[in-house]
Amino acid sequence: QVRTRFAPSPTGFIHLGNIRSALYPWAFARSQGGVFILRIEDTDLERSTQAAVDVILESMHWLGMDPDEGPYYQMQRMPRYKEVLAQLQAAGHVYPCYMSVAELDALREKQLAAKQKPRYDGTWRPEPGKVLPPIPPGVQPVLRFKNPHSGVVAWDDKVKGRIEIRNEELDDLVVARPDGTPTYNFCVVVDDIDMRITHVIRGDDHVNNTPRQINIFRALGHEPPIYAHLPTVLNERGEKMSKRNGAKPVTQYRDEGYLPDAIINYLARLGWSHGDDEIFTREQFLQWFDLEHLSRSAAQFDEAKLRWVNAQHLKAMADEALAELVAEQLAKRGIAPADLADGRLPRICALFKDRCDTTVALADWAFRFYADVIPAESDRAQHVIEAIEPALEDLVQALAACAWNKEAIGAAFKQVLARHGLKMPQLAMPVRVLTMGVAHTPSVDAVLELLGREKVLARLKNR
Ligand code: GLU
Repeated sequence: QVRTRFAPSPTGFIHLGNIRSALYPWAFARSQGGVFILRIEDTDLERSTQAAVDVILESMHWLGMDPDEGPYYQMQRMPRYKEVLAQLQAAGHVYPCYMSVAELDALREKQLAAKQKPRYDGTWRPEPGKVLPPIPPGVQPVLRFKNPHSGVVAWDDKVKGRIEIRNEELDDLVVARPDGTPTYNFCVVVDDIDMRITHVIRGDDHVNNTPRQINIFRALGHEPPIYAHLPTVLNERGEKMSKRNGAKPVTQYRDEGYLPDAIINYLARLGWSHGDDEIFTREQFLQWFDLEHLSRSAAQFDEAKLRWVNAQHLKAMADEALAELVAEQLAKRGIAPADLADGRLPRICALFKDRCDTTVALADWAFRFYADVIPAESDRAQHVIEAIEPALEDLVQALAACAWNKEAIGAAFKQVLARHGLKMPQLAMPVRVLTMGVAHTPSVDAVLELLGREKVLARLKNR
């Protein structure tokens, strides 16, 4: 059974680039009938917070990407890591190293001066027949992993293809600090083994860790999982997407009126493709997703494109479902669910959704049906002019008397236009400004019908 994981560090909010690293393992597990696991890598105590964990959970839940297992917390697994460290030590795969920070620095300086790559020189690595230096008093050692000296570590990366690293390029990794706490690469391997991860799908900023992790897997008697290292997501300026350079929290997209399925659709295409298909549903994506069509090159985030994708999903949504989301946005603007009891909202959504790309934009329109509108003075001055007064007065009379449906409202307009020798825009524009507060709306008879006779007459009289 396929088992994948998303392993974020809870150090602040998560942005869309982070979520893309969750999307593919999630989709792969879903498409294979597998299990998707959330693991919180919270060992950086200075920077990790519970609030950040909550935001991760909230973001994933909003997107409909809840994990099947977890969250597991690395901090809660410390006893387990220490247990495995002890096993490794008993099997002779790790050794204590007493080199002090000052000595390491000196070594580094020397190597840099000789134009060599700085690396640990193996002073404390036990070898048959080798005499180790005397143990300095009062120094707590780190534990180092005995990386193989020869051979290559190789894997067939699902994105990058075959990667081979010569072991002589890897030095002996510190797996435990002087206080005995295990280090990052070691914890990841223990987790991936214990959680029986079959596919590690993660950002390619971890590709340098992979050969080291594979060696630890083997020392622990396990074959490594399949790896897929995803290329970076760049922001609109071509920098790596990050909190520091302006990426927005995922939850902000929810507040700005984006749809979860549109976000998933957009992110899915940011690093994976299914032919030329650009707009697809969550179900299609989960059916189609595979590791074979992951992209090898970095992808650039484009908010305008995301907006466009959102608009496509918005238009495709059923009006009732859309109305529920718009009702949530209206609630934030003081329109209570009880105010919407007349049931017009789905029809309002149907009428306006073609010109909106977010539910917030749609709520801006819907708001005008439930709250007073105040036309901009400039629109009033331009359209509600002296010369149109007699026709407006006539229209008020006609609309007070006609049947209340689109056809009757349209007919009333035609009669008034004929009586005053006017063209439709000359009357429709001021009517839109007075009733909806703006000069451009969908067809005026449809808008007025939905607004209702009482509000239409009151707003037309208020000029
Ligand atoms: N915690 C790591 C990160 O946030 C992920 C490590 C992994 O996926 O192996 O980048």
